[in-house]
Amino acid sequence: MKEIKEWVTGKVSLTIGGKPINMEMTVPKDPVTVRRMLPVFRQLTNSFVGIGVGAAEADGKEISCKAGCGACCRQPVPLAETEVFELAELVENMPEPRRTEIKERFDKAFEHFASKGWFEKLDGVASMDKSVRHEIAIEYFSEQIACPFLEDESCSIHENRPVACREYLVTSPAEHCSSPTADTIEMVPILAKPSVALCRITQSTTKGTSVRFVPLITALEIARNYEEDQTEKSGEEWMADFFTELTHQEIPRENTEK
Ligand code: SF4
Repeated sequence: MKEIKEWVTGKVSLTIGGKPINMEMTVPKDPVTVRRMLPVFRQLTNSFVGIGVGAAEADGKEISCKAGCGACCRQPVPLAETEVFELAELVENMPEPRRTEIKERFDKAFEHFASKGWFEKLDGVASMDKSVRHEIAIEYFSEQIACPFLEDESCSIHENRPVACREYLVTSPAEHCSSPTADTIEMVPILAKPSVALCRITQSTTKGTSVRFVPLITALEIARNYEEDQTEKSGEEWMADFFTELTHQEIPRENTEK
């Protein structure tokens, strides 16, 4: 991995959903691939979720999610394409016998849903009605196949978990999570979805595919069959792309105060 020689720290001031957000971030000044930006995007996600948690708690609500409760880890977790390669590398670097065990879980889960024809249902998913997307997700959940990284109902890659997993917190009773419905699950509201912005800035960059919804269990299969895009941009450019997708507004670089 190439060494980053220069970094730049900037302040970003945004208004999302009528709420002002001020952040300070340090990003590579050198051109880097989007994967090198993942730690920054994860940190940003944690900040957005933290704001949502603060608002929920100020409203007298309590977060139900805790270690040892992995009911939601049987859902189809969407990954940004860059997270596919990050997770594949994470697995590749695991010591044996864990690496083989995790790979086997991925293969089993992949084969299970392939045999059900579930992946075909994702064709054109982005333009589907929300209720249809919900049905497809429920179908997946009803199979009760745990995420390959779930260990004793806790996430074994907590520090490296995908952005979508970071966004998923509930204030509804934990027992509802084993049979979730729109009426029984109360999510912690977040002002904007970093997972969607990250998907958008990295989608179609994987050469040879234009997959838009990438379920976590397909990560190893995709990483084996496709080449990771090596497009490089400065950290500031990646951030501008990210915030443009997050806020649906063009973010001019002058808005970043250095
Ligand atoms: S990566 Fe971790 S948090 Fe996300 S679904 Fe898997 S076990 Fe759960």
